[in-house]
Amino acid sequence: MLSIRVEKTTTPKPLPAEDNPLKFGTIFTDHMFIMNYETGKGWHDARIVPYQPVVLDPAAMVFHYGQEMFEGLKAYRAADGRVLLFRPDMNAKRTNNTNKRLCIPQIPEEDFVEAVKAVVKVDEAWIPTKPDTSLYIRPFIIATDPFLGVRPSDTYQFMIILSPVGPYYPEGLDPVKIWIEDDYVRAIRGGIGEAKTGGNYVASMAAQLKAHKEGYSQVLWLDGVEKKYIEEVGAMNIFFKISGTVVTPILNGSILPGITRDSVIALCKEWNVPVEERRVSVDELYEAAKNGTMEEVFGTGTAAVISPVSHLRFQDHVLMVKDGSIGELSQKLYDTVSGLQRGQVQDTKGWIVEVK
Ligand SMILES: *Cc1c(COP(=O)(O)O)cnc(C)c1O
Repeated sequence: MLSIRVEKTTTPKPLPAEDNPLKFGTIFTDHMFIMNYETGKGWHDARIVPYQPVVLDPAAMVFHYGQEMFEGLKAYRAADGRVLLFRPDMNAKRTNNTNKRLCIPQIPEEDFVEAVKAVVKVDEAWIPTKPDTSLYIRPFIIATDPFLGVRPSDTYQFMIILSPVGPYYPEGLDPVKIWIEDDYVRAIRGGIGEAKTGGNYVASMAAQLKAHKEGYSQVLWLDGVEKKYIEEVGAMNIFFKISGTVVTPILNGSILPGITRDSVIALCKEWNVPVEERRVSVDELYEAAKNGTMEEVFGTGTAAVISPVSHLRFQDHVLMVKDGSIGELSQKLYDTVSGLQRGQVQDTKGWIVEVK
């Protein structure tokens, strides 16, 4: 069991006003979790301290070679006042998969979950209560050796910061327009696409700017070799409902294994909705859009849960998804997952973990 020292702030910040729209990732709570690692000593000195700047040597390896990882999950306030997490054990597992790829030391899964619970508990008052709001949790690890040679660091800091967030769609699920990118690539098999790390995000920015300029809000990536098969959206996995069957790209090493993706697949199976994980080509989407069998398209991720897609643009073609409104299955998945997260839907799968 992790022993965590707690140092409370003596100058708490005012909580955001009830009518604050809480723009994603802009407000941070009073405290943060920190734990250090050193080769030979392991993870040590777990502590919760007042939210504060991190002081690092300019030669710290994270600045030069990008040895860092992050996670993302949320704490939700149920109507009865309980504080709930959604499958945090999956974030702990994914952390260790990412760490393995990036040569960052493993963290015991139960320590990861315990650290998340402890810091959420300390800043519990910051969990907003209005519908569809939550407390975003950002665990991350950075390499801190002051050294300009290339090798895995011998020292690390694992930190967790918290940010109250408003509803992703203040006016209800709002379909997004997606740009299928056929020039830049995000990741290739054997690379770091399945790791949750900043390197994948910096690789995506140029295409994102390009898509924005064209009036599209997100980029859908193709495989890096043939540029023929669908991979995922910037920070979401992608699903298509074609002729009654739900299809999503199979995890092939260059796609991030989303926890929302996994949950959506499990729910479809439970509801006897046919679901297939396999390769999906742009040609197949083009055909389905043309012959009217493309019933729904949606992205999945912690931030929005379900993000319905109304348009797909590929080269000079715009593929419309039905009439552009949210599909029946998309809505049911959103209602179920967000209902589970907020304790309004009975949890029969052991997905919900209470912070006590
Ligand atoms: C985090 C992330 C996702 C979504 O994963 P969830 O666990 O569902 O939040 C999808 N794609 C990328 C690239 C991501 O970083």
